[in-house]
Amino acid sequence: MKQDALVFYSPVDDPSAWRDALAHELPDLDFRVDPEVGDPDEISYALAWLPPKGFFQRFRNLKLVTNLGAGADALLNRDDLAPVPITRLSDPGMVSLMTSYVIFAVTRYARDIHIFERAKRRGEWHYVHPRPLSEIKVAVLGLGELGANAAQSLAAMGYDVRGWSRTLKDIPGVACCAGREALDAMLGECEIFVILLPATSDTKALLGARELALMPHGAKFINASRAAVVDEEALLAALRSGAIGEATLDVFNVEPLPADHPFWAQENVLITPHLASITVPHLAVRNVAESIRRIRRGEEPLHRVDPRRGY
Ligand code: NDP
Repeated sequence: MKQDALVFYSPVDDPSAWRDALAHELPDLDFRVDPEVGDPDEISYALAWLPPKGFFQRFRNLKLVTNLGAGADALLNRDDLAPVPITRLSDPGMVSLMTSYVIFAVTRYARDIHIFERAKRRGEWHYVHPRPLSEIKVAVLGLGELGANAAQSLAAMGYDVRGWSRTLKDIPGVACCAGREALDAMLGECEIFVILLPATSDTKALLGARELALMPHGAKFINASRAAVVDEEALLAALRSGAIGEATLDVFNVEPLPADHPFWAQENVLITPHLASITVPHLAVRNVAESIRRIRRGEEPLHRVDPRRGY
């Protein structure tokens, strides 16, 4: 039996872009797109985004599962997947796309663009005197591959940036802190919050009614990572009362966001359909191929997810 084939699954990514990019790096790789997988016993690698329940059950010879994105939460704690190494994608294209989203969302609030969008709808010339960026305190929660670059870029633009992570980081221009105790103080100090934390058992509903209430009245809230990190009901209540003034949300407990979800009716919520960042095949493929080469040589793949830590 011939082993060493790869199965590709994604409801949103174009398999041919990945097939072409991988063919360039690993010309001998047998690339199969679900559901045309042939003999499942020949599959050694999976490159997958949000595979449905039971997807991995038939692949008994898997040696590596690569998440077609940064947040690998959908691949953890599954009962259809044996304990094979799971890796995440990491590519400069994904980092720049996320940074562009964060800079857009933060700057839209910092430069009062959300106010002018509404004034335009009323046909009103509504002058708001701009504030210097150095007076605008922005918190970035999560300083990993995406959060660190976003925080550093905001700081380079002149914002007053604070960053928070599990372990202490050193990022030029960013006042970093770490650990649960440091979080409350930071929530009280900043006016724009950017969430770039992974969904794990530790971060589940980390930002609930209590934490939202610690933020200054009218704070701006930007979530570009995972909805599970936030108590959605508490956020909705805070947005309705004005305690949270504005939100930019890219991720939701249920996606696509149901047509009758109250977020749609909130004028102070900007909704984007989970695309703050995506992986760029021709930039990410080098790492995917290198991990496959390493697995073939019996070595550790790149960017391995720690299932106990959850990211
Ligand atoms: P990383 O795994 O590189 O970084 C995660 C960061 O969160 C690290 O700084 C980590 O701390 C911190 N963190 C994790 N757990 C805790 C905790 N309990 N308390 C405090 N800090 C914590 O992830 P990325 O930066 O690559 O991506 C972040 C998330 O963004 C992904 O997990 C994914 O869910 C989401 N994402 C969303 C996209 C979208 O389009 N909306 C696209 C891509 C990713 P430490 O540094 O100490 O480990």
